[in-house]
Amino acid sequence: MAVGTVTAATSIERISVLTCPACRHRSREEMPDDMCLFFHECAGCGARLRPLPGDCCVFCSYGTVPCPPKQAGRCSA
Ligand SMILES: [Zn+2]
Repeated sequence: MAVGTVTAATSIERISVLTCPACRHRSREEMPDDMCLFFHECAGCGARLRPLPGDCCVFCSYGTVPCPPKQAGRCSA
């Protein structure tokens, strides 16, 4: 069984690519270090993305990478 080298806290990914569920438009966003983003307006179709139930922010729902607080394991949502 292979165990990868997981370095917590030092490997926070800051760039997430959001994919709009309506038009599939992708936008590359830099995430703020210590907060969640609840709304994101799609540049393709203008839809306002909101987190899915159980997710704390749009990055967790639609991004390639969850938000920094979640990556660090200290997201309260
Ligand atoms: Zn869209």
